[in-house]
Amino acid sequence: MYVNVTAPLRAALAAATEDQIIYDLAGVARRHATLLRELPGVRVRFAMKACPVDEVLTRLVQQGAGFDAASPAEIAQALRAGAPLDAIHFGNTIKSDRHIAEAHRLGVRDFATDSVEDVRAIARHAPGARVFCRLATDGAGALWGLSRKFGCTPSDAVRVMETARTAGLTPAGLSFHVGSQQMTAEAWRGAIDRVAGVVTVLARRGIHLDHVNLGGGLPAPHGTDRGGNPLDPPLDKIFAVIREGMHQLRTVAGGPLDFLIEPGRHLVADNGAIRAHVARLTTREQLGGDRAHWLYLSCGKFNGLYEMDGLQYPLLFPGHPEDAPRVPAVIAGPTCDSDDAYDPAGAPVRVPAGLASGDPVWIASCGAYATSYTTQGFNGFSPLPYTWIDGDRAGRGAPHPAAPPLAAPVTLGEVA
Ligand SMILES: *Cc1c(COP(=O)(O)O)cnc(C)c1O
Repeated sequence: MYVNVTAPLRAALAAATEDQIIYDLAGVARRHATLLRELPGVRVRFAMKACPVDEVLTRLVQQGAGFDAASPAEIAQALRAGAPLDAIHFGNTIKSDRHIAEAHRLGVRDFATDSVEDVRAIARHAPGARVFCRLATDGAGALWGLSRKFGCTPSDAVRVMETARTAGLTPAGLSFHVGSQQMTAEAWRGAIDRVAGVVTVLARRGIHLDHVNLGGGLPAPHGTDRGGNPLDPPLDKIFAVIREGMHQLRTVAGGPLDFLIEPGRHLVADNGAIRAHVARLTTREQLGGDRAHWLYLSCGKFNGLYEMDGLQYPLLFPGHPEDAPRVPAVIAGPTCDSDDAYDPAGAPVRVPAGLASGDPVWIASCGAYATSYTTQGFNGFSPLPYTWIDGDRAGRGAPHPAAPPLAAPVTLGEVA
């Protein structure tokens, strides 16, 4: 099994006696510093949904990062974390009139867009704002493609930006997202070429952008695929292609151009780990006649491990030596939902045959999206409490940091 757990996380996991998710803040800060070294001059806008945990966000602000926020509640959390307003943008192309107005009231001035309808709404509810237009990508090469729902074609982007100018907004930039856990450098190559084309057409029409947003998609360095094989993303090549692309874009822009990047999982995936426990290891005859082992854990798809549909989380079983007898098992969470299981066809996970109820299980590389994908208590299985470590400091967080406070009650007619 391919596992990457840093020594501090390992020590914190060993010290944990109750189920929890542990974030290594120093690890997040290190990965952020490495990213800045790889892409000099780029400003980081962390995609909050990847880890909406106050302490993680505050640590990133201390490192100079800003945020890609997708709702007024995320903007409020970004401000609480200490980010300056000009380092927060509303990066969601999907927003109601009411959310645009709320973001504007909170002081945000940069909005993502991808349609003429959305631009007109921004002009009405956030007059004078700056907009950046998201170009569509096909998501090829990513574990989770983010195509179709977001982004527009180059010709639509020109229309959108001209509409923005006419409506009194500042057409300020272009963005894209190559898809989450993008495994190919070619995806960035293609997206940057399309951006270069639009920058050129816009310049001819007198629209000179001040920035390009390179989006998210940077892969987690140590991910494993559904079969448990290292994904081994070509990070060096990806960074080289992005550096070349920035040079190319500056050349076609013919003037100064800033660059933003919106990493999510790349910064946090390997810096979070879960301490869970074994509910039961069973052997049941399946309807086809064969006997199968199922390992039910206290934590599953609905309390932290939603992404088990796309990857395999490395599991560690402290107290059970590597060479102890093992059995192939389907891994599943504790709820009464059959989707709450991880069953890679043909590649069951080998687990210690002697596992007993209550034995601790460590789940590695699950720092990305675990908190945001947590349900409020499916079948009464609560969101995991979280703790954090940061060098020789450590602390404990609230049970579920992402739950926004209820807004004041509204009447139906008021809702956009
Ligand atoms: C989710 C998201 C990101 C982060 O994606 P990762 O694949 O985790 O890097 C960045 N930008 C936007 C607009 C997003 O929605």
